[in-house]
Amino acid sequence: MTNDTTIYSEFNVPTVINAVGTKTRVGGPRMRPEAADAMRAAARSGAHISELQAKASERISEATGAEAGYVTTGASAALTLATAACIAGDDLGRMARLPKTGDAPNEIVLPRSQRNCYDRAFHVGGGTIVEIGNNDHTLGVAATNVHPWEIEDAISDRTAAIAHLPKQATQLPLEMVVEIAHDNDVPVIVDGAATLPPKENLRRYIDAGADLVAFSGGKAIRGPQATGILAGRADLIRSVACQQLDWDVTDTVWDPPESLFGDTSPTGIPRLGIGRGFKVGTEELVGLLRALECYLEEDEQELHETLLDRAMMICEGVTGISGVEASVTPDIESEVSAANHRSEVIPEVVLKIDPDATGLDAVALAEGLREERPRIVLGADRALDGQLSINPFSLSDEEARYVIDQIRGQLTDR
Ligand SMILES: *Cc1c(COP(=O)(O)O)cnc(C)c1O
Repeated sequence: MTNDTTIYSEFNVPTVINAVGTKTRVGGPRMRPEAADAMRAAARSGAHISELQAKASERISEATGAEAGYVTTGASAALTLATAACIAGDDLGRMARLPKTGDAPNEIVLPRSQRNCYDRAFHVGGGTIVEIGNNDHTLGVAATNVHPWEIEDAISDRTAAIAHLPKQATQLPLEMVVEIAHDNDVPVIVDGAATLPPKENLRRYIDAGADLVAFSGGKAIRGPQATGILAGRADLIRSVACQQLDWDVTDTVWDPPESLFGDTSPTGIPRLGIGRGFKVGTEELVGLLRALECYLEEDEQELHETLLDRAMMICEGVTGISGVEASVTPDIESEVSAANHRSEVIPEVVLKIDPDATGLDAVALAEGLREERPRIVLGADRALDGQLSINPFSLSDEEARYVIDQIRGQLTDR
C-alpha cells in the first residue's frame, strides 16, 4: 500500500519511503509488528521501570554474554550513560555533581581515526575526549593510524575509559586495546551501535573483554527507534541505574531491585542523575525486549538472501534507462578489517547518472524523488560525483517497485 494516507497525513507531513537503510532520521527500518504489539499492550498498564530494567538486564545478559544490561533511549544515550558510569562508579557525590566532574578522572581516550559525529555522547556524560594517533592510514600517506603504545602513553590518573569504534578503518584489534586498558585498570567502552548484523557481534565485543558496549535498538534489531542497549559489567550497569532511574522516594520505601544491585546497594538514595533525560518508558522497554527476542531468532542467511533479491529486483527495474548505469554492490557477505572486525555489508543498488544523456543530474534526481508523494529518500552522499544508492533494508517489495517506477518516471517523462 504505497500511498500517502498514513498517520503522518494527519499532521500534513509527507510519508517517506526509506531507501537509505537504517537511518533513524527518516524513521529507520519498520519496527517489528511484534514490538509494536508489545508497546500497545504495555500502554494499557504500568510496572516499575526499575523491575523491568532488572528483567531487561537478564535478557541482555543472555543475548550478549555480558554480566548485566540496560535499556536506554538509543546507542548515543548508552554511550553517555557509559561515560557517567565510568566517571562516577558507585560514588554518590560524583553522580550528584555530573556533568561537572570535579577531581574525578574524566578523560576518554579515543584514536583520532575513530572520531565520529556520535562521540559527543562522551562529552554529554561528563567526559572529555583525548585524541591519540592520526589519520595517516585512512588518508593513504602512512601505514598506521594508531600504535598500541599511544594508548598506553595516553593513560594517566585522569583517564576514565578507552573508547573503541569497530569499523573497517579501525586498526587495533579490540583484544589488544582491552589488554592495554585492563593492565592499567581502565575500562573499555565500545560503540557497536551500527555493527549489527551479524548478530554474532552482540557477543563479540564482550567476548573480547569490553567493559561496556552500546547498540542501537532502532537499527537492525528493528525495535522502537528511540531505544538502545548498554551491555557490560554489573558494577557499571549498577552505576547507570543509580544515575538514570527515578529514586525520588523516602528511605523507608527505598527498595532497589536486588537483581540490578546485587548485595551492593548504594549507600544512600541517589539524586535524580545525569541520566534522567535518557529515560525509556515502559512501552519502549518491552518493545525493545520483544524486538531483541525476534532478532535473535531471525535466520540471518535468509534475510541476506531476501535483501540481495530485492536489490537485484530494483537493479533490473532501473536497467535500460538511457544514461543510467545500475549495479548491485558486490555480494561480499562480510568484510573483515585489519582489526579483524567483521560486519555485514547490506547489498545496495548503485546508480551512476550521466546528466548529458538523462537531462537530469544525480542531485536533481534525488530532489525530484524527495518531492514525490510519498517522498523517496535514497543515498545521496555521493550525488556530486553523479552517484545515488538504494538500500533495500527498509523497503518492502511493493515500496521497491514504487521506487523503480518513480525513478523511471523522473528520468523518462521529460
Ligand atoms: C547510529 C549510531 C549511533 C547512535 O545510535 P542511536 O541509537 O540512534 O542513538 C551511535 N554511534 C554510531 C557509530 C552509530 O552508527
